[in-house]
Amino acid sequence: MQNLQSLKELLVGKPKNIVITTHQKPDADALGSSLGLYNYLKKYHHNICVVAPTDYPRFLFWMPGNNCVINYEENDYSKNYINKAIDNADIIFCLDYSSWERLKKVADSVKNSKAIKVLIDHHLDPTVVAEYKMWYPSAAATCELIYNFICQMGDKNLIDSEIGECIYAGIMTDTGSFRFPSTSKNIHIIISELIEIGVDNSKVHRLIYDNNSQEKLRFLGFVLNQKLHVIDSLNTAYIAISSEELSMFNSQTGDTEGLVNYALSIEGVVFAVIIIEREDAVKMSFRSSGNFKANEFAALHFEGGGHKNAAGGKSNASFKDTLEKFLNILPSYQQMLNAEYQSQPNLIPC
Ligand code: 5GP
Ligand code: MN
Repeated sequence: MQNLQSLKELLVGKPKNIVITTHQKPDADALGSSLGLYNYLKKYHHNICVVAPTDYPRFLFWMPGNNCVINYEENDYSKNYINKAIDNADIIFCLDYSSWERLKKVADSVKNSKAIKVLIDHHLDPTVVAEYKMWYPSAAATCELIYNFICQMGDKNLIDSEIGECIYAGIMTDTGSFRFPSTSKNIHIIISELIEIGVDNSKVHRLIYDNNSQEKLRFLGFVLNQKLHVIDSLNTAYIAISSEELSMFNSQTGDTEGLVNYALSIEGVVFAVIIIEREDAVKMSFRSSGNFKANEFAALHFEGGGHKNAAGGKSNASFKDTLEKFLNILPSYQQMLNAEYQSQPNLIPC
């Protein structure tokens, strides 16, 4: 961050009214960066409001500070509380999102607020306007940037196990448990330092990954057995789930997270897509390996974007028409998809 010194003066001086915002349907990096920062700023006695534009999965509720997070959509009280906090804010942090739309119904009030804005993010092509920016698309997670931010503030010694657990959770999930190419040497250094100060890495792993409801696992079984389709000639796998199927398994927020990765894990698959019929629109998640640009595909055809290998999008057409559109578009990418597969290291020597 270029002008960190002046931000530092704001943050270590008189307590301020601070609002921390993150994207809708927060994941572990979104919530972890929000609560990592919250637990840090609390040490300076600021008056802090942590905003989630929507609900989020139960398996994140353990995070230190979770009780202070307010879900905008919860009820009228939460809406009013958040609107008032934004009106009175001196500083608004924008974490783990790069465009206002990701804030859903909170977008307009944050965008139009006169408060000083601080963007800390790793998504491509930011359109969020902020006075202070810590924007590194090469960062593995926003939690990595929060760790660096606290260090650059000269406060590494203030990172305790509560802050550390939040940061660890975001880095662990956004790196796919330390296996994506973004898992740099620095990531391992940060993780070793977190363990040194007492973060129980095994506990965090268990809390996030071993907290499944029975229904979620049975839903997973159903999806893998009946909804996963592989198009060998296009090195692509896809899953399409209707709202009826979601209700059949009483699917909760977060229950579909990660499903698309199973599709990408199939040998020979370089592009994986999940299409889900939600209440407001048909949501899509795209994953790819190597150089196939999932974000370009999402932006060009499904009003979306994201990273090269992990992107999202949506469609206002019906569920059936969206699937049909996707299947019609895909063959025009055959050459690219086949070439990507050919260029990748193969398990079987020829
Ligand atoms: P997910 O598939 O996990 O929802 O999202 C994967 C990535 O794509 C995330 O980094 C997220 O920022 C991005 N993404 C998801 N949905 C959208 C969308 O509707 N628009 C844009 N621009 N990016 C999205
Ligand atoms: Mn992230």
